[in-house]
Amino acid sequence: MEQTLLIYNTLKRQKEAFKPLHAPHVGMYVCGPTVYGDAHLGHARPAITFDILYRYLTHLGYKVRYVRNITDVGHLEHDADEGEDKIAKKARLEQLEPMEVVQHYLNRYHKAMEALNVLPPSIEPHASGHIMEQIALVQEILDNGYAYESRGSVYFDVAKYNQDHHYGKLSGRNLDDVLNTTRELDGQDEKRNPADFALWKCAQPEHIMRWPSPWSDGFPGWHCECTAMGRKYLGNHFDIHGGGMDLVFPHHECEIAQSVASQGDDMVRYWMHNNMITINGQKMGKSYNNFINLSEFFAGSHPLLEQAYSPMTIRFFILQAHYRSTVDFGNEALQASEKGLARLMEAVGNLDRLQPATTSTIDVKQLRQKCYEAMNDDLNTPIVISHLFDACRIVNTVLDKKATLTAEDLDELKSLFHTFLFDILGLKEEKGDGDGRREEAFGKVVDMLLEQRMKAKAAKDWATSDLIRDQLTALGFEIKDTKDGFSWKLNV
Ligand SMILES: [Zn+2]
Repeated sequence: MEQTLLIYNTLKRQKEAFKPLHAPHVGMYVCGPTVYGDAHLGHARPAITFDILYRYLTHLGYKVRYVRNITDVGHLEHDADEGEDKIAKKARLEQLEPMEVVQHYLNRYHKAMEALNVLPPSIEPHASGHIMEQIALVQEILDNGYAYESRGSVYFDVAKYNQDHHYGKLSGRNLDDVLNTTRELDGQDEKRNPADFALWKCAQPEHIMRWPSPWSDGFPGWHCECTAMGRKYLGNHFDIHGGGMDLVFPHHECEIAQSVASQGDDMVRYWMHNNMITINGQKMGKSYNNFINLSEFFAGSHPLLEQAYSPMTIRFFILQAHYRSTVDFGNEALQASEKGLARLMEAVGNLDRLQPATTSTIDVKQLRQKCYEAMNDDLNTPIVISHLFDACRIVNTVLDKKATLTAEDLDELKSLFHTFLFDILGLKEEKGDGDGRREEAFGKVVDMLLEQRMKAKAAKDWATSDLIRDQLTALGFEIKDTKDGFSWKLNV
């Protein structure tokens, strides 16, 4: 933990040195998916961004409790207070129980995250499993005078709150901006002010997901879950709250307001947000017909894709941009990433083939410190990757016999790749079809050698026969002579 990590705090609009409230423990909350459809790039980016943070903090020696929630109730269409619940709508269309929809897409989300080598969080709480905590939160806000009941629903009184506190401090909006951009929607006559947001919604008779509360049978407003679950698992004050930039307003702004209105202050010390993804320069959205699921990327089964892209190619591609920059997906850029990652992996493999020399003609020692400096500068993964490419070039130079490295420096390079490429960036060798083909080809080469040995034996050329057997045995092959020829296996 001798490293000083700077992270960009959206709330302060600047980079700040990360100092946990209760070192070595770190509390970190990230908004997880609303599970009503397959995971897409919009899910991959925050998951990978905060996976890097989780891995790096752990690498630095912190004990991180990472909470990433599952939104399975209360997230209405258009992120507004009206319209159907996203999960209930899907359940109605597919004639399933809402929890069946949740389980189905959650299983698929977990599979996609595993493929992307995103580590599972410490706790993954469901909003529907924390209704009591959300009701308690709403009650506290009501008791403190920052909410009001209207026809069985409870709304947050934004104007009242803004008299005593600053509504908009995270997003930089003021109340007038919010009022000017709030659409008039049905049912807003229940609200005193169009900017007010729902803390509890009275369920319409046809609404399936409903729970009893002091106000009505209904369901919590979308923003309540993260405040209630963050507090439950990380305490009244914790270190980091993250999510996509699209959540800054209204979701995270409302979370801050709920926290201040209930406990008197904000729970979160550092607010972190990853930027968005575009596809061929366009915003991603169902209406643009460019909504590509992760499984379609992995299989190459979308008209916009020229080929399949493996999970590690997607991960590497995302990490080649800083998390606060936008990322534009296109075939050419993805293919370049695929090649780049293959070059790095090849260098790792080639390291084992390099013979150590008595002296080093290249300095490799500064690379590790440079990688730390980049990570410490607000998780600057593209710079870390550029240093790893430098390491890759060194390996190739030594391979071409244009430079030499000592055994100690070779070990340092191996350790550098292990620490940064594998442990911190979370990239890994993929065992795909290519590996199957490679193994098949290697197997045929061994067969060919053993057939030459049989010919040598038949010609009583014992020297050649023994040489082939001994050398294969030295490599770990177990060779048996059988009635009709030979059999072999590789002991690993
Ligand atoms: Zn959230």
